[in-house]
Amino acid sequence: MENKAFNIKFLGTCACDFSPKLENEYKDSFGINERRASSVLLCGKYLIDAGMHILDSIRIAGVDVSMITDIFVSHTHSDHFDSENIEKIAKNSKNPLRVWIREDANVPKSDNVEYVRMTPYVRYEVEKDVFVTGAVANHDPDAAPQHFILEANEKKLFYGCDGAWLITRTYNFIKRADFDVAIFDATMGDYNGDYRIGEHNSIPMLRVMLPSLKGERAITDKTKVIFSHIAPSLHKTHTEIVKTAKELGASVAYDGMEIIL
Ligand SMILES: [Zn+2]
Ligand SMILES: [Zn+2]
Repeated sequence: MENKAFNIKFLGTCACDFSPKLENEYKDSFGINERRASSVLLCGKYLIDAGMHILDSIRIAGVDVSMITDIFVSHTHSDHFDSENIEKIAKNSKNPLRVWIREDANVPKSDNVEYVRMTPYVRYEVEKDVFVTGAVANHDPDAAPQHFILEANEKKLFYGCDGAWLITRTYNFIKRADFDVAIFDATMGDYNGDYRIGEHNSIPMLRVMLPSLKGERAITDKTKVIFSHIAPSLHKTHTEIVKTAKELGASVAYDGMEIIL
């Protein structure tokens, strides 16, 4: 890649409890507490996840769809994978669109999309000097869940939405990774007792996980730790989540947020 900057644009940061305001007040804009289905665009051309809101997010963010070359699918739940929306992106992309998905995922046939079946923990070359690896996520096993390690422009990113505690092999796999950016599922807020702990993180879980990941140098002081895949109904306002996250050395994603490394 010619451009050496590593650009991350959040196109959606929600778990599944979408605000009704997305249908009216916020149908043409992003709101700080109104989140769409989770997705990020990297370097203007690599999309992680394309769910039911992706076309609206792309439109609102002013993304040039024709530049998208690859979509990395974390799993097949509808907030992350929508085959009809992906078809539409493929039709508007000037490149043959590749969709990277875990090898055992169940997906419909498509003439416009080239599916790349990924074996977990195998590092694939996406293009020159750009690599992607899938690592099995602790989430609904029928949805072929995987976290991503993406390396581009000498930067290394971890994307872990959806998923709860890291499974042993994935935890061992990312030890000493020294990520530049690590994006974690933070579906639940700062309380105990939620039934979803087998598939999503809460703030108390992240409070336990992050120091251990630091101890193993998966993340370090230089890592930008970001919480995403947030369920607004299980959290306080964005401003209040930001305050809690700061105590953990993390920041909180919102729709439309952009980071340049
Ligand atoms: Zn989700
Ligand atoms: Zn899911």
